[in-house]
Amino acid sequence: MKALVLGAGIVGVTTAYELNRRGYAVTVIDREAEAASFTSYCNAGLFAPGHAYAWSSPAAPGILLRSLWRGDQALRFKPNADPRFWRWMWKFWGECTAERAALNTIRKLRLCNFSLSVFHETLARTKIAYDGRKGGLLYLYRSAAALDAAMAKSRILTDNGCRIERLDGAAIARRDPALAPVGSLFAGALYAPDDESGDCRMFAIGLRQFLEGQGVVFKFGTAITGLSTEAGRVSAVATSAGSETADVIVLCLGVYSPHLVRELGHDLPIYPVKGYAMTAPVTDAAAAPALGGVDEETLVAYAPFGKRLRVTSTAEFSGYDRSHGPGDFRTMLKTMRTLFPMAADWDRAEHCAGLRPMTPAGTPILGPSRLSNLWFNTGQGHMGWTMSHGAARLTAQLITGEAPAIPLDGMTAAT
Ligand SMILES: Cc1cc2nc3c(=O)[nH]c(=O)nc-3n(C[C@H](O)[C@H](O)[C@H](O)COP(=O)(O)OP(=O)(O)OC[C@H]3O[C@@H](n4cnc5c(N)ncnc54)[C@H](O)[C@@H]3O)c2cc1C
Repeated sequence: MKALVLGAGIVGVTTAYELNRRGYAVTVIDREAEAASFTSYCNAGLFAPGHAYAWSSPAAPGILLRSLWRGDQALRFKPNADPRFWRWMWKFWGECTAERAALNTIRKLRLCNFSLSVFHETLARTKIAYDGRKGGLLYLYRSAAALDAAMAKSRILTDNGCRIERLDGAAIARRDPALAPVGSLFAGALYAPDDESGDCRMFAIGLRQFLEGQGVVFKFGTAITGLSTEAGRVSAVATSAGSETADVIVLCLGVYSPHLVRELGHDLPIYPVKGYAMTAPVTDAAAAPALGGVDEETLVAYAPFGKRLRVTSTAEFSGYDRSHGPGDFRTMLKTMRTLFPMAADWDRAEHCAGLRPMTPAGTPILGPSRLSNLWFNTGQGHMGWTMSHGAARLTAQLITGEAPAIPLDGMTAAT
């Protein structure tokens, strides 16, 4: 059986892995020159079930509206005339009740936890190097009120199988000695001991190499331009290098997934939420973080990747624009210079921006489409590195008719 995976981001590459393991002859198509060269290029690298909260919550509409005049760095909301944007926002608003937020958080957490176990299996089999770091992540709070609120909020995670510990300033320094000089800045932290970090792009490239060794074909520099249909199935995938056919086709195009299937009657509720990232060489290993984490005051995330330090920030609604300028990195730089002032050479940092493929609920879209041989695995949003391994396993299970390992409630497309 022949499978075509459309997109070689982390979601596409992990999907190719799961299908290859089940005996499919897999071809992966992407217009970039290498795996994980678009959004999967520069994420924070946090493998974070301990941060699986749904973004849509009762507080979210107010936060979005306030960002219109506050000139916030962490959240930027630039309304535009795109009807898809307003349809997405309308659905997002619908997910902002306390009940929906709780349900979506539990569904996300279940997928994240499953994904972590699949990830460990894949690592054991492939031995891919990815500058990973086990030992937990730190979610840092500068005020006691914010820490108390976060602790109360985390009940939904701990009630559903996620371990979270409350740390005071001294305990933070014991977990990560690089934070000892600034321990007094924080009222405390929530520590998720089972969370991890690692370079998503490095892993994706390692997996691409492993898969090529297993006979998987990667066609890079190839744009997918359309789908032809016949008798209720996709008869051909049109690309810049000719057309392709397959028994099974999986859509993993991130923020571009909706574009390809719109004419087939699918209105996938995925919209880009932009974020910015910096990666700098570590200059003093002892001053660099031992664990990844998030400064919850500035909403800056960071992770040590071997001899590099990755920092990310911002959720910005500004369409498909991926441009960036020095002002976009100001809060990140200030936070890093406060937390880890001697750790890295920020003058030599690489800068980039990425587009999170967000759904209103924050859960991905998996499973069958209206066409019998077309399947979805897309919309992993702000947690695509964390969710990709589990989402790929579930997708392969659905395609082969196996029972999915976890419930898929709220994660399938309307057909
Ligand atoms: C700043 C930032 C920080 C983040 N931090 C984290 C984190 O700490 N932890 C976490 O779990 N997640 C994080 N994420 C989210 C995560 O990076 C994404 O969810 C994930 O990368 C999405 O992967 P994907 O494969 O769906 O999409 P992409 O990586 O965008 O892959 C889609 C692929 O499709 C290809 N493509 C699209 N259209 C076409 C076409 N017409 N023809 C050919 N090819 C096409 C693209 O070239 C691309 O390679 C972060 C994201 C950002 C932006």
